[in-house]
Amino acid sequence: MAEALTAHAAGARCRRCGICCRKGGPGLHLEDRALVETGRIPLEQLYTIRAGETVYDNVQEKLHRTSRDIIKIKSRPDRSECVWMNPAGNGCDHYDDRPLECRVLDCRDTHEIEAVYARKRLVRENLVGEIQGLWNLIRDHQDRCDPRQVELRIRAVDRSLPSSPKSNRNDPSGLHSRSDSSFGDSESMAELNLILQYDLHLREVLTEDGRVHPDRLEFLLGRPLYKILRPSGIDIRLKNGRLFWMTTSRKGEEPPC
Ligand code: SF4
Repeated sequence: MAEALTAHAAGARCRRCGICCRKGGPGLHLEDRALVETGRIPLEQLYTIRAGETVYDNVQEKLHRTSRDIIKIKSRPDRSECVWMNPAGNGCDHYDDRPLECRVLDCRDTHEIEAVYARKRLVRENLVGEIQGLWNLIRDHQDRCDPRQVELRIRAVDRSLPSSPKSNRNDPSGLHSRSDSSFGDSESMAELNLILQYDLHLREVLTEDGRVHPDRLEFLLGRPLYKILRPSGIDIRLKNGRLFWMTTSRKGEEPPC
């Protein structure tokens, strides 16, 4: 398999239309490990989709909940295109060190990308698992801020949320059409707020005094919790260091302590 992939990668001729690069950066696989470990793919350019997050699968074209890390190249802020896409929109500024998915992708024949897409994914443990203190902290954060547990608490708080992720990619939140709701379970609300605040606080502490570069946080801890819940129909936003619900009936409210 590896030889076939290498041969394909060497022979593939990209027309540089840029369509695949506009859909977001690639996920990384074990074959990309050396690129990261030698700094040719810097940690600052990566983010982690953590186990339990709901993500859009570009191959299967549907939302699903991931059971383990997916490490990806970041996209440009507030846009979907890969951060390494040439600003002119027709090429890769990191072409010689592009990851496996980009090397095997031929949009005219997707068999190779489909074969490698979900296998041998690189995970955080491969890269920082031997840094004991840091790895313990990452595991503790994953336990405390497990997206599945957070989602369960949110659904206990807001019973109007859909019971499963929406499959409509254009309106994955399902918030805009919803007007009915009933709220309850103040205990879950308090727990939820503690988890969301812990996630934010840990990020602040780690970047204090330059201990961790801020641009590495989304690799080490994934994206802030309040940002990753939207595909599951949960819209919470940060303003001046405080979190606000943006659901139809809780709009503008802070989760109470
Ligand atoms: S790394 Fe390069 S080829 Fe791959 S998605 Fe980004 S811009 Fe495109």
